Amino acid sequence: MRTRMVAGNWKMNKNLQEGVALATELKEAVKNPNCAVVIGTPFIHLATVAELLKGSAIKVAAENCADHEKGAYTGEVSAEMVKSTGAEYVILGHSERRQYYAESYEMLAEKTRLALANGLKVIFCIGEVKEEREAGKQNEVVKAQLEGSVFGLSAEEWKNITLAYEPVWAIGTGLTATPAQAQEIHAYIRGLVAEKYGKAAADDTTILYGGSCNEKNAAELFACPDIDGGLIGGAALVAEKFLAIIAAR
Ligand code: PEP
Repeated sequence: MRTRMVAGNWKMNKNLQEGVALATELKEAVKNPNCAVVIGTPFIHLATVAELLKGSAIKVAAENCADHEKGAYTGEVSAEMVKSTGAEYVILGHSERRQYYAESYEMLAEKTRLALANGLKVIFCIGEVKEEREAGKQNEVVKAQLEGSVFGLSAEEWKNITLAYEPVWAIGTGLTATPAQAQEIHAYIRGLVAEKYGKAAADDTTILYGGSCNEKNAAELFACPDIDGGLIGGAALVAEKFLAIIAAR
């Protein structure tokens, strides 16, 4: 049985004190969740929040890591540094990083390789923009993203990959993919994983949906057979909403 998961992505929101307050609230409320629960926080929160959540049901993720191992890269944070904070995951390939920071397939392949080599699990995001969806190109887009960055991984490495399908037109827009649209492409993605790593590995791969998933639509999305949970942006910033999404999984 593959892992079901609800993961939050705080993005560049909440100062340290606000982040600690939210993590504390979540820790108190999440005792025996039905699924894995992960929160992705800014780098500066990681060590404090990981320490706070030690021994709890909630794991911590970074939202990025460097594409270099170490050295003269001012302002960058390496995978090894992320791991040293107590974080267990890193979110890579988010559309905001692809779009605003020009993260290429090659760069993301290197980030993924370094994250895995340093013992982190990777939540790898893929998804098409609006024009690509309108042109019916969503399948070829996600296939190219997978082939360009993560299908070079070994079968052993693949075990530490969680995928997040996030249609860019649905992120932060209030537009959600319908359960039918999401299910269709999740099944397609699982099929690609099966072709590459075999059916058993595909059956074990967790594929999250992300894009305006909230406490109102989560249950319907999560009821789809190939949607194993959610990667949540805006609704992860409010404890009540994030908890309701966890409860829906
Ligand atoms: C995200 O950024 O990963 C995301 C899904 O954001 P939102 O839930 O706000 O659409």
